[in-house]
Amino acid sequence: MDDRTHFTVTDSLMRYAEFLGYGELHTKIDDKTGLKAFIAIHNLHRGPAIGGCRLMSYSSVDKAIEDALRLGHMMSYKAAINNLPHGGAKAVLIKPKEEIHDRNAYFEAFGDFINDLGGRYITAVDSGTSPHEMDIISRRTPYVTCTSQLGGNSDPSPLTALGVGRAIQAAVKFKMNQDSLEGVHIAIQGAGHVGYYLAKQLHELGARLSMADVNVKALQRCIDEFNVTVVPPDDIYHLECDVFSPCAFGAVLNLKTINQLQAKIVAGSANNQLAHHHYGALLHERGILYGPDFLINAGGLIHVAVTYAHGDLQKSTEQISNIYHTVYDIYERAKSENRATNEIAEQIARKRLGE
Ligand code: NAD
Repeated sequence: MDDRTHFTVTDSLMRYAEFLGYGELHTKIDDKTGLKAFIAIHNLHRGPAIGGCRLMSYSSVDKAIEDALRLGHMMSYKAAINNLPHGGAKAVLIKPKEEIHDRNAYFEAFGDFINDLGGRYITAVDSGTSPHEMDIISRRTPYVTCTSQLGGNSDPSPLTALGVGRAIQAAVKFKMNQDSLEGVHIAIQGAGHVGYYLAKQLHELGARLSMADVNVKALQRCIDEFNVTVVPPDDIYHLECDVFSPCAFGAVLNLKTINQLQAKIVAGSANNQLAHHHYGALLHERGILYGPDFLINAGGLIHVAVTYAHGDLQKSTEQISNIYHTVYDIYERAKSENRATNEIAEQIARKRLGE
């Protein structure tokens, strides 16, 4: 490491990193290419840390570091609960104010940075990067997935939707003792990337769909293709339905919305759905079966880990489908131990991470 790779984070960020159970935070500044990058490696207990690399504008360096820490931590939990042989990590590249002059040199420099970590971190596509950038990185390091050779894809949402759909099937089996989704009424919040593919899948499986979105165009596509019933955004919480599937934004499950819910099941793709960890217990008390978000929305991560190890799309689809069994076991444990599903899932993940 030369002098330029040393830096000081603020006390509060350091406390945040400690609170999340870190780990390592690496930095690279390369004047020649304009690269300013952070790699937050949360945990190496189960194997090399894996997680996407995002290229984004940030209002401050602190915000970029905070993003890397927050997301790397979440990757560890997603990997551990789904039994992947990896810890979690995230790379954040601060988008330069001016154009990147030489994109090849920029991502090659980032590839060198990854390579210097000797395999502790495996990178993947995230916001602002694509298989094209992964191909450039692969010129300098083998610790990269989502390359075009590995069938890389910029959009993980169909895979995320596959995992969420499997979790919904498991919940319907557990809670309603039904193998099929035929006639099951599912309310999807958000008709964006994941919401669209989830609606497609559930429609094909015979579910009855209601959807809400503030984006009329996104909603229209689902109306045209899947015969969905539209619900005003604020009404979706108290809609009488079997499943509520939050696929729009985080912190959607709070005191107010949980008390409004008429659904028997909550299972969706949004990250950090519980506004507070304790709201999992409130859902449990209300008899609403909750599919822990970090478990069921990990389809994209499972895909990159499996294709990195085996280069096999079929295997990754099988492993994502296995979310059905992973979450079903947690539903069973929650019932027999009379505890919230999120508490059980977090406990399992923490144990596997050696925390
Ligand atoms: P997206 O931005 O494509 O879609 C979100 C949709 O929610 C948009 O259409 C938006 O208009 C809508 N929305 C915003 N506010 C709303 C409101 N008040 N009511 C109803 N709809 C509203 O995002 P996405 O990629 O589909 O991801 C959805 C969620 O799943 C996000 O929380 C994301 O972090 C999480 N997630 C996504 C992936 C993935 O593969 N894309 C993976 C893991 C987790």
